[in-house]
Amino acid sequence: MKSVYIHIPFCKTICSYCDFCKRFYEEELAKKYLDALEKEISSRYKNEVISTLYIGGGTPNSLSDTLLEKLLNILSKIILNKEYEYTIECNIELLTKGQIKLFEKYGINRVSLGVQTFNEKYLSFLNRHHSKDEVFEKVNMLKEEGITNINVDFIYAIPGETLSEVESDIELFKKLDIPHISTYSLIIEDHTILKNNDTKYIDEDLDRNMYELIISKLDSFKHYETSNFAKEGFKSKHNLTYWNNENYYGFGLGASGYINNTRYDNARSMSKYLSGSYIELEENLSINETIENEFILGFRKIDGININTFKKKYNVDVLSIDIVDKLIKEGKLKADGDNLSISDEYIYTANSILIEFLGLDYERYI
Ligand code: SF4
Repeated sequence: MKSVYIHIPFCKTICSYCDFCKRFYEEELAKKYLDALEKEISSRYKNEVISTLYIGGGTPNSLSDTLLEKLLNILSKIILNKEYEYTIECNIELLTKGQIKLFEKYGINRVSLGVQTFNEKYLSFLNRHHSKDEVFEKVNMLKEEGITNINVDFIYAIPGETLSEVESDIELFKKLDIPHISTYSLIIEDHTILKNNDTKYIDEDLDRNMYELIISKLDSFKHYETSNFAKEGFKSKHNLTYWNNENYYGFGLGASGYINNTRYDNARSMSKYLSGSYIELEENLSINETIENEFILGFRKIDGININTFKKKYNVDVLSIDIVDKLIKEGKLKADGDNLSISDEYIYTANSILIEFLGLDYERYI
C-alpha cells in the first residue's frame, strides 16, 4: 500500500465553483465525524507502512484546534516510512500559528494552500475570502515555522479574465517563492453556484493561450504533470501515486480508494457514514480496465509512462500495442529512452488522444 487519503468534508464558506463532497462546519457534527473516521480507519487499515498521507477536503483546517488535534492523533496510528510525505490542505484565512505548531507536532511536512488568484474581483467571484497580503503573510508564517514544502492552487480562465490578469497572477505566485504550483482552468461543474448562475466558459483559444503563458512563465519549475509544476525534489509524491496507478486507501466521507485492482467509493451521505456504512460502491477492474487506467493516468505526467515499469507490471512491451504504434506514427506520442509520453504540441489537447485508449482489448498482448 502506497498512500492514504483522508477526507474532511467541512468548510466555513462554500466556493462558487465547488462540487466536492463538503458541508458547512458544525463542531458537534465534526466531532461525531472524527469518531466515525477513526472507526473506519481501524476497521480497514492493516498497519501497512505508508509513503504518503494526505488530508484533503473540504477544509481540514476549518476544524477547531481541539478537533484538529483529535484528527492528527487518530492519524498518528498510520505508520509512515522514513521518506514520507504528509500533506494537509489549508484555507488561507483560517490558518493560524497554533495550527502550524500542531502540524509540526504530528509530523506534517507539506501544506497545500488554496490561493486560486490574487485578483480581488475574481476572489470575490469564486467566493474566496482572503487578500493578497494575507497569502504572503501566511506563506511566510509557514516558512518561519519551518514548513517550506508548500503547494499553492492557482485557478485561471475565470469568466472575464484577461491574459494580462493571468500574467499578473503568475508573477505574484512566483514571488511567493514556494516549490510547487497546481494550476486549474476553471471548470463549471453541475450543482455549483456558477452552474446555477448559468456561467459560461471563456473562449477556448484564450484558455489555451493562458495555459501556454503559464507554462512559459513558470520555466524555473519543472512542468511534470498536465497541471502541476515543481522545483527539483518537490513533485507531489502523493499525487504521483494516483498518476502511477498505484494502491491507496481513501478514508472519510466520499473518499475513493484503489486496492488490488478494486476501486471503491465511500458513501457521500453523512448519516450513512456515521452509521458505519463506509463503502458505497466497489468495482473489480478487469486487466483491460487496469491497463486502460495505466494509460489515462500515466499520460497526465509530462514524462508519461515508463516502458520498463509497464513491462514489469503487465508483462507487455507497451510499444507492441497497436494503438501506441499508430499514435507514435502520427506524431501524437513519443518514445524517448525509457519513456512513452504525449508529444509536446498535443499536451493541451491530450483528452482527444486519451479517448483512443478506451475500451480496447489489451489482454491479447499478454
Ligand atoms: S474550500 Fe474547497 S471544498 Fe470547501 S467549498 Fe471551497 S473548494 Fe469546496
